[in-house]
Amino acid sequence: MINALPSHGVPAEQILGELTGLRSGDLPTHGGTLFSYVYDSGLADLDGLAQSAHALASHVNGLDPTAFPSLLAAENALVAAAAKLLGGAHAPTVVGSVTSGGTESIMLAVKAARDAHPDIERPRMVAPVTAHAAFAKAAAYLRVELDSVPVDAQTLAADPATIDTAITPETILVACSAPSYAHGVVDPVEDVAACAADHGVRCHVDACFGGWILPYLRRLGVEVPDFDFRIPGVTSMSVDLHKYAYCPKGTSLLLHRDDRLRISQYFGYADWPGYTMVNSGIASTRSGGPVAAALATTRHIGDDGYLRLAQQTRTAVERIATAVTDTPGLRLMAPADYMVVCFTGEDPDIDLFVLADELAAAGWHTQPQLPFGAMSASIHLTVTAAVEPTVERFGPALAAAVAATRERRPPDLPPEMTQLVATMDPDLLTPETVAGLAQRFGLTEADSVAGNMAMVNALLAVAPAAVREKLLIEFVSLLQQPPRD
Ligand SMILES: *Cc1c(COP(=O)(O)O)cnc(C)c1O
Repeated sequence: MINALPSHGVPAEQILGELTGLRSGDLPTHGGTLFSYVYDSGLADLDGLAQSAHALASHVNGLDPTAFPSLLAAENALVAAAAKLLGGAHAPTVVGSVTSGGTESIMLAVKAARDAHPDIERPRMVAPVTAHAAFAKAAAYLRVELDSVPVDAQTLAADPATIDTAITPETILVACSAPSYAHGVVDPVEDVAACAADHGVRCHVDACFGGWILPYLRRLGVEVPDFDFRIPGVTSMSVDLHKYAYCPKGTSLLLHRDDRLRISQYFGYADWPGYTMVNSGIASTRSGGPVAAALATTRHIGDDGYLRLAQQTRTAVERIATAVTDTPGLRLMAPADYMVVCFTGEDPDIDLFVLADELAAAGWHTQPQLPFGAMSASIHLTVTAAVEPTVERFGPALAAAVAATRERRPPDLPPEMTQLVATMDPDLLTPETVAGLAQRFGLTEADSVAGNMAMVNALLAVAPAAVREKLLIEFVSLLQQPPRD
């Protein structure tokens, strides 16, 4: 149990030792064996540089860009770099701001679109089901109705015709992805943006995931369809710096085609006795640390560095995709054209959730994805440059994990439990029921969760979305309890 407020202060060295000890229970952020959550360039000197830059600016406050011009200059420089990568030559008026992450960028894009239409009482937005959950979060926070539309069942790409029919006079925004997180599919942005423009509606391209790597993959000869400001109907884009720009966590960019589209993103307030508040983002006080670290990272890696990192990523993706397609019983959900490998199983003897556990036991931490509508369960791998040096070992590891999975029986859920979650009314689910389930699955210690998840995933897989949400909210609430003495 950690005491965050000891009666006597603790020496620095001891604290750092304790923190290092705590960190040893985490999944590995470096080494190319964790295929979600982290983005690792594999460059040895990058962490130290980013940490020093962060320290230089950690007490700088983004609350007021006139008080700390260093932060304003750094942010504008990052926006300029992103605009250049994302078709800015075709849209010289692009502006933008730094945010804390992709979710904030998306929320602000939705806010800007909503507040540009004060006349629309019940604003709505249209997005393919494959759009990131951040759009649903933005919809919920901002009280915008989300019209989630199906994607092409074969390609898993957004269908412009379906989007077109979903647009109403209340629609304030159409969204699509470049690429989608779950399957790594780039939506047909040109057609989606054209139909949004036909209706006079804004079109946001969520390039949180791919915005900093797709341009480099294209330069390497990978066929990447147009997805950026080259397309006239694209009004805003999000690109995360803490993904393929390999910056430390806490930075993303929201770009608008011009500053008139951005103006409704701001919040201003003068009607109180304190300072007049003007913010481009959600936070008021905001550390300069992540921004300085991001600028140090992009400048140190440089354009040539990002091209090399994209090449390494490509090599790793190709090797992993080949390992998958060479394995009887496994099938790619979508072509591994960019930086995602996502595969499913088509052999009843290969339970995907068991396979994910077997891979994890061997040190390869992939991300299981639950079945959704007609889409089967799948295993997702976000591949970064740091995977390349170890990728030779992935094929044999996959083969061994598949063999072990065939030996193991799929999770044997008691039928009454399956029945319970499949038909449960989420509103009647109590914290006690969830605590009981957590106990039963041995999930009461936060650090014991990874590695034996097949049973839990099998249970969640039969639960409707609303039940999944409620189960996991109650579970996280169970974890987020302060130590009590
Ligand atoms: C990661 C991601 C987001 C959300 O970004 P956060 O930084 O996690 O808030 C949004 N869209 C896509 C496609 C993403 O991959």
